[in-house]
Amino acid sequence: MNCDHAIERVYHYLDGQLTVWKRRAITRHLDECPPCARGFDFEVEIRRVVAVRCRDEAPDHLRRRIAAALGLGLPPGS
Ligand SMILES: [Zn+2]
Repeated sequence: MNCDHAIERVYHYLDGQLTVWKRRAITRHLDECPPCARGFDFEVEIRRVVAVRCRDEAPDHLRRRIAAALGLGLPPGS
């Protein structure tokens, strides 16, 4: 696997769209290729930060309004 292929597949890897074998091929490439491994770490970090921010920045009242707008009941006790 070359670097272009590896980078392209890292996104699928992160989205959980690859088979076990393809994941292994990527993991092996990342082990052997520090530039790609750095890119991968960076991508993972970005996604982690975005996930945390999205969770934290939707305040409770906003979530309730969204749930109400969607016609969803909230679970008891929330
Ligand atoms: Zn590479």
